[in-house]
Amino acid sequence: MAEQGKKDRTIATHAGSHPHDNQGVVNPPIYRASTVLFRSVQDLRERYKSKYDAITYGRDGTQTYRALAEAFTALEGCDKAVIVPSGLAAVTTALLGVLNPGDHLLMVDTAYEPTRGVCDGFLAKIGIETTYYDPMIGAGIATLMRPNTKVIYLESPGSLTFETQDVPAIVGVAKARGCLTMIDNTWATPLFFKPPRFGIDIGIYAATKYICGHSDIMMGIVTCRAELHHPLAKMAHGTLGHAAAPDECYQALRGLRTLHARLTQHQETALTLARWLGQRPEVEQVLHPALPGTPGHEFWKRDVDGSSGLFGVVLKPCAPDRVDAMLNGMRLFGMGFSWGGYESLMVPAGLTTSRSAKPWPAVGRTVRIHAGLEDPEDLIADLEDGLARLRGN
Ligand SMILES: *Cc1c(COP(=O)(O)O)cnc(C)c1O
Repeated sequence: MAEQGKKDRTIATHAGSHPHDNQGVVNPPIYRASTVLFRSVQDLRERYKSKYDAITYGRDGTQTYRALAEAFTALEGCDKAVIVPSGLAAVTTALLGVLNPGDHLLMVDTAYEPTRGVCDGFLAKIGIETTYYDPMIGAGIATLMRPNTKVIYLESPGSLTFETQDVPAIVGVAKARGCLTMIDNTWATPLFFKPPRFGIDIGIYAATKYICGHSDIMMGIVTCRAELHHPLAKMAHGTLGHAAAPDECYQALRGLRTLHARLTQHQETALTLARWLGQRPEVEQVLHPALPGTPGHEFWKRDVDGSSGLFGVVLKPCAPDRVDAMLNGMRLFGMGFSWGGYESLMVPAGLTTSRSAKPWPAVGRTVRIHAGLEDPEDLIADLEDGLARLRGN
């Protein structure tokens, strides 16, 4: 492939695109299909031999899916990618694709909350036991390993509180015990962190966020080594029965082309806002992996190549209606879940029910901010007015 050995920006711009296979059209076309025809019985048999690589039926993905998978694997450095209709479907596909009843799972305590829901609900129901671990445990994770521990699941930085994990220490323990590792790498994207380089077996992405990047597409991507592709693709397409739709794959590939430019700006604006907030008397602590004082900052510096637009702010204790007044009056920061789009967001972060290994100690309310592509000066003016409402002015 032409992109081999090239830098990330070049790969993100060209991978998966073969214009001269399509009469010079720059973007891979949208191929919609349920039915796929075979030329002969022999053709049918041959394509089924490489099922999940060959195109045999719409539910396994068409050429548009393959184009996105080709681009994403080139950028991340994995062998294969499985593309599903949401980030949560990627989490579920990864877990169910490798775990069996009777297995034990070590899950990071700062996992995305619906991921906890999968563990405590469906996995528990089918006899897979989960133990939550402190994101800062590092090599200490060895003390939680059991003979039936099959998977260590990481999410770094963690949801809502943004701890960066000591990935090499945890992967070292997993490898010594023959245990698989998977990471939810949605925050960093393959531009800032490449799981295969750290020996992680499976990467999980809510492509809904930065990959698609325009707040209008739901998508999940699971990346893996070649030998894990069949069980993961079979779980997604052959058991759960879904693949990301061709139109969505087209939009995600379009998003990938501008990922570097967008992420660079999200990074810069988030750092500007985070530093500004860190100086404010109303703020107890800023939770941003690239700022000293956030747990795991030293691991972020060592292992991660950049920071994205999402971070947390712990406010000094105050009356709850003051926080509501701040959030209700924001003009540019929309209040909504999800993130990774071009626009700024601010939501209250509920931390009381989403931690079990290590309770969250802060007494002040925490809000989560996504820095969008607006001018940082306008965003700071909006924050300044918000903090005035917080003070009751
Ligand atoms: C949003 C998110 C998901 C789930 O993605 P959806 O596309 O919303 O299902 C998974 N992990 C993280 C870290 C997320 O932020």
